[in-house]
Amino acid sequence: MIYLDHNATTRPCAEAIEEVQDALLTLWANPSSTHAAGQAARRALADARTRVASFLGCQGAELVFTSGATEANHMALLGGLAAGRTAGRNRLVLSSVEHPAQLTLAQRLRGEGVAVDLLPVQTDGSLDLAAAERLIGPDVALVSVMGANNETGVCMPVAALARLAQAAGALMHVDATQLAGKSELRFDASGADLWSVSAHKLHGPKGIGALVMRKGLALPALLSGRQERQRRGGTENLPGILGFAAAAERAALTLRADLAHLHELQQRLEQGLLALSPQVHVYGRSVARLPNTTCLRLGTLDADQVLSRLERAGVLASSGAACSAGGTQPSHVLLAMGEPADRAKAAIRLSTGRDTTVDDIERAIAAVRTALLPLLADATQATP
Ligand code: PLP
Repeated sequence: MIYLDHNATTRPCAEAIEEVQDALLTLWANPSSTHAAGQAARRALADARTRVASFLGCQGAELVFTSGATEANHMALLGGLAAGRTAGRNRLVLSSVEHPAQLTLAQRLRGEGVAVDLLPVQTDGSLDLAAAERLIGPDVALVSVMGANNETGVCMPVAALARLAQAAGALMHVDATQLAGKSELRFDASGADLWSVSAHKLHGPKGIGALVMRKGLALPALLSGRQERQRRGGTENLPGILGFAAAAERAALTLRADLAHLHELQQRLEQGLLALSPQVHVYGRSVARLPNTTCLRLGTLDADQVLSRLERAGVLASSGAACSAGGTQPSHVLLAMGEPADRAKAAIRLSTGRDTTVDDIERAIAAVRTALLPLLADATQATP
C-alpha cells in the first residue's frame, strides 16, 4: 500500500514507539506523587517539556500539554474569548477554512451571542488580507487561523495577521498542527500569542498535543486541576508526552533534508499528474503551500469514487478533512475558495511524508493513469 494521507495522521516513528513503551513499563507512576517513583516521572515530564519546547521555539513554561490540537484549539478560542470579554471584547475572527471542529465551536459561540467573523479566502486558497484589515478592530478578542490548511496545504499570512491583531489589542492564535514537521517552527519569532500542535501529525502518538501560550498570558483553564500550572487539569499523559518529545527530536534532526525531499516529491507528483490529462486540476499551485500536500480533482469525478478506485489500486488518500471522509458533503474549504459544489465534491488530497519514496510517487501516478483516466474519458464522452 502507498500511504498518501499524512495530513490525516502519520505512522509513529521508532523513537516515539520506544519511548512510549519505556514509559508504560517504567514511568507509570503519577508525576504528582511525592515518592521516588512519582518524582522520576516528574523529572521525565520536565525533561520532555524542554525537548518539545526546543522543537517549537518556545519556553518550557509556555507549553501546556493537551489531548491534541482539537483541545488546544478549544482552549485558545474559549480562553481567548473569556480574556477579551473582561475588556469588553466579544468578537472572534477566524478564517473560513479552519478545521471543522473549530468552525463548529465558533458556530456554537455565535448561537450564544458572540460575534464571529469568518475571513474569506481567494480562489487560490490564500487569505483575503484586505478583509482582515477591515474586520480586525478594537472589539476583537481573538484572531485564529491555521498556519497551513490541512486540505490544500495553502499557508496563511500569519505574521501579517499577528501585526493586525496586535495593533487592535487582540490575541493571535495559530493552529500550527499542519506546520509541524513540514516547516521550521519558531513560536518566539512568530508574533503569535497562542499555538496549537498535535504529535500524531509528526510521527508521534495520538491523543497528545499542546497549546503554546505566550509567557505572561493567563487564560482560564478548560479543565480545572493542579496540573500544568493550573492551566490543564488531569493526570499527565506521560507516555504520550515522551512519545511527542521523541518524535519532535527525530523531526528536528532531519528537518532540512526532509523538506527538500518533500518538495522534490511534490514537483514529481504534480508534474506527473498534470501531464496525464488537461482535466487534472491542482489547487493552490501559485501560492505558498506545504511541500507535502497536493489537493486536486480529475474533472468532476466524485471524490468517493476516485478514492475507492485508488485504494483498489493500492493508494490510500483522503478527501477533505478525515473526519468528514465517507460523507458526500462537498469540502467547505473548496466551497470557500468559490468552487461550485460538483468540483468541491471532486477534490481529493494526496499528502506525503518523510518516508514516502520517489517510487511511491511514480506508482501513484501510474495508479491514477490506469484506474482513473478511463473513467475520466467516459465522463467526458457522457457530457453533452
Ligand atoms: N487542526 C488541524 C489543522 C488539523 O489538521 C487537525 C487534524 O486533523 C486538527 C486540528 C485536530 O488535531 P487532533 O487530532 O490532534 O485533535
